[in-house]
Amino acid sequence: MTISLNLPGDWRMHGICGEDPEMWFPGSNDQLGITAAKAACHNCPVIAECAKWALDTQQPYGVWGGMSEQDRAQELKRRQAPPRPRGRRDLKTHCAQGHEYTVANICLDHRGNRACVTCRKARNVRKLAAEKARRAEREAS
Ligand code: SF4
Ligand SMILES: [Zn+2]
Repeated sequence: MTISLNLPGDWRMHGICGEDPEMWFPGSNDQLGITAAKAACHNCPVIAECAKWALDTQQPYGVWGGMSEQDRAQELKRRQAPPRPRGRRDLKTHCAQGHEYTVANICLDHRGNRACVTCRKARNVRKLAAEKARRAEREAS
């Protein structure tokens, strides 16, 4: 008999939220808590599996796979909407830099449009590096 190591639900054993599950269930209006949980998910090795599961099973509460209750509701609404004519921005499969819009690589910008997680991370790294350089310059002078 062959035993599959890819049993459904197996990914949960690798989630980093197991030790402090309460953090992933902030109140619906707790924006700080929601932001912190979403940020923590982006360090989780099973973010893609988790996001897919939460969307497929329409989890009503909590942050799953880097998505809040509101993010999931929006994504589900988008999935149910009839296809838009070609050429619309939200039909793109890749960001302007060529990164694929997979479930784990999509976040929402402040206008609610799809944005690329890889590009956002790279931007944050550049911002931090620039800030560090400026600080070093100030300290040297
Ligand atoms: S992606 Fe987030 S919610 Fe999902 S298992 Fe990882 S830490 Fe937990
Ligand atoms: Zn990108």
